[in-house]
Amino acid sequence: MTTPDLPTYADVEAAAKRLEGVAHRTPVNTSRTLNDMLGAEVFIKCENFQRMGAFKFRGAYNALSKFSPEQRRAGVVAFSSGNHAQGIALSARLLGIPATIVMPHDAPAAKVAATKGYGANVVSYDRYTEDREAIGRRLAGEHGFTLIPPYDHPDVLAGQGTAARELFAEVGALDALFCPLGGGGLLSGTALSTRALAPQCKLYGVEPEAGNDGQQSFRSGSIVHIDTPKTIADGAQTQHLGQYTFAIIKRDVDDILTATDAQLVEAMKFYASRMKMIVEPTGCLSLAAALQMKDALRGKRVGILISGGNIDLERFCELVSA
Ligand SMILES: *Cc1c(COP(=O)(O)O)cnc(C)c1O
Repeated sequence: MTTPDLPTYADVEAAAKRLEGVAHRTPVNTSRTLNDMLGAEVFIKCENFQRMGAFKFRGAYNALSKFSPEQRRAGVVAFSSGNHAQGIALSARLLGIPATIVMPHDAPAAKVAATKGYGANVVSYDRYTEDREAIGRRLAGEHGFTLIPPYDHPDVLAGQGTAARELFAEVGALDALFCPLGGGGLLSGTALSTRALAPQCKLYGVEPEAGNDGQQSFRSGSIVHIDTPKTIADGAQTQHLGQYTFAIIKRDVDDILTATDAQLVEAMKFYASRMKMIVEPTGCLSLAAALQMKDALRGKRVGILISGGNIDLERFCELVSA
C-alpha cells in the first residue's frame, strides 16, 4: 500500500474548533502521593470524565461533523468493542445522523446498553470467529452508510489529538507523556499535538503485554498482525495498527511499552483508592507503564493520559478485590 496523505497538527486544531462547546475540556488532576512515588511532577489528563466516558467522543464527533448532507441522511456505521461505538452513537444523535453499530457479543453490558441508549441500532458478532470489518463494509454497501473506523481515519485521529492539545495548553511542555495504545488513533493524534507543542517531550505508547503488536511493529518497522489478545484491557484488544496511525507513530513516537493485566489492576486500585476515580483497565495503561519506569522519571514533568472510565461496576469490584 502507498503511504497515505497524513493529517497534521493543523487538522487537530480544526478538530478542536469543531469540538469547542461540545466536548468537555476534561480536568488535569494531580496526586501528591503519585508525585512522591515517582519523584516527579505528574499531570493526569482525565478523559474518563469526557462525554460518554472516553476520549473516543472527540474523534467520532470530528469525523461526523465533516459529513456531507447526503452522508448525514444515509447514516453512519461503525464497528467497535465499545467506546468508539458510544462515541459514534452520541455524536450521531447530537448531529441528527442515523447510526448502526457492529459490536462483539461479549462487549461489556454497560457499553452495549449505553450505545443503545444513544439511539443507535446494534448488530452483534463473535469477536473470535467473525470479521467485524467485513460486516461493517457489507452494511455500508447495502445501505449507503458511511463507515467510520475506530482509529485508522484522518478525522478520527485528528479529533483524538485534541486531548493532548488541551493538556499542553494547560500545563505547558512536559518531559515525558504516556498514552494508551490500541489501534493507535489516540497515540497518533497525541503525537501530532506533542510534536507541535512540546517537541522535546518523550512520547510513549503503552499497550497490553498480551497484545504487543504495536511494540513489534514499531521495532520491526512494518505493521505486525496478531490474534485477538486475551487481556482485561478490552479497549486495546486490537490485532494491528492502521496505515495512518502507524505512519505517524513510526515517525513521531519515542517507544512503545507494555503493561500486564496485574499491573493494570494495581493502577486501577491506585486511581480508585488515592484519587477517587473509576478508570477502566485500558485507561490504566499509562500509569501502569510510568510506575515501572520509576527512577527514569525522577525530577521530570510527566503527563499521563487516562483514556476512559467505562466498566461495569460488578466487573470493577471483581478486578480490584481479587
Ligand atoms: C479505544 C480506546 C483505547 C485505544 O485507542 P486507539 O485509538 O485504538 O489506540 C484506549 N483506551 C480506551 C478507554 C479506549 O476506548
